[in-house]
Amino acid sequence: MPEGDVVLLTARRLDAALRGRPLDRAELRWPTAFEVDLVGRTVREVAMYGKHLLTRLDDDRTLRTHLRMDGTWRIARTGSAQARARDPRVRAVLGNATWTCVGTDLGMLDVVRTRDERTLLGDLGPDLLADGFDAPVRTAGLEVAVGRILAADAAGGFRGEHDPAAGAPLVELLLSQRGVAGIGTIYAAESLFAHRLWPWTPARAIGPDGVRDVLRTARRLELAAVATGPQTQERFVHGREGRPCRVCGTAVQVGVANRSPYERPVFWCPVCQAPGQPTGARSSGAP
Ligand SMILES: [Zn+2]
Repeated sequence: MPEGDVVLLTARRLDAALRGRPLDRAELRWPTAFEVDLVGRTVREVAMYGKHLLTRLDDDRTLRTHLRMDGTWRIARTGSAQARARDPRVRAVLGNATWTCVGTDLGMLDVVRTRDERTLLGDLGPDLLADGFDAPVRTAGLEVAVGRILAADAAGGFRGEHDPAAGAPLVELLLSQRGVAGIGTIYAAESLFAHRLWPWTPARAIGPDGVRDVLRTARRLELAAVATGPQTQERFVHGREGRPCRVCGTAVQVGVANRSPYERPVFWCPVCQAPGQPTGARSSGAP
C-alpha cells in the first residue's frame, strides 16, 4: 500500500507533467465520472493530502484520486504505446501535447468543486508531509496532530473501540489517518522502532512530547524516502518477520493492529520494543 512518500512523489511527477498546460485528453473510466468532460481545462496544480491526489483545474474543479492498495499513476510520452492506455485496469488518462498520465487500479475517483475538496477528505488529520507541518507554532499541523492523537487515546481510539481508561495503541492512532494523514504500516512500524516503543503502548504513556517525537521521526523517514526514492531506505522491522533485529539480533515479529475488518500488520522487535517500557532508550520527553 502506498504511503505518504509515494503519494508525494507521484503528486510531484504529475504536477511537473500537467501544471499550466491544457488537457487534450481526459478519460475518466469510472462509473460515476465517465461523463465528466475535462478536455480543454488547464491544470493549475497537482497537490496531495494524506494519500489523496488532488488535480486542480482552472475552472475551479478538482479531480481527486486515491491509490488505495495497488493504484499507480504512470507518465508516458504522448503518442507512445504506453500512452494508449489499453489496459482494462486503467481508470483515468490525463494528457497534454507532451505527456500522458495514466492512472491504473485507482481506489477512488471524484470530480468536485475545488472549494468542496475538503468534503472528500473526510476527517483526515493534518498532512504529515505538508510544508510547515513542524513549524514551531501552536497552529502547526504537528501540534494539531498531537492534540488529535491524545484526544483519541483519551476516548479509547478514533472509533472508540478501546477502553478509555486504558487508552488506545499508538500504532492504531498513527495508522488511522485521523490523527495525522500519511502514515501507513511501513512508517508506523519504523517510527515506533526508532523510539523503541511497543506498538500497543497507549499514547498517554509517552505524552505530548513523546507523540511529537514519533511524528517528527515518521516525517523525517518519509521525507528521506522522497529524497532518495521509495524502497531505498534500510528498514529495521517492516517486512522482516523472523529475521534478526538489526540492533539486538532477536527475531522480528509481526502482530496485528486494529480489529476486524481494519486489521493491518505491524512488525516489531520483542526485545527492543518490549511491552511495559514506554520510556524506551530513544524516546525522549516521556513522563
Ligand atoms: Zn531488537
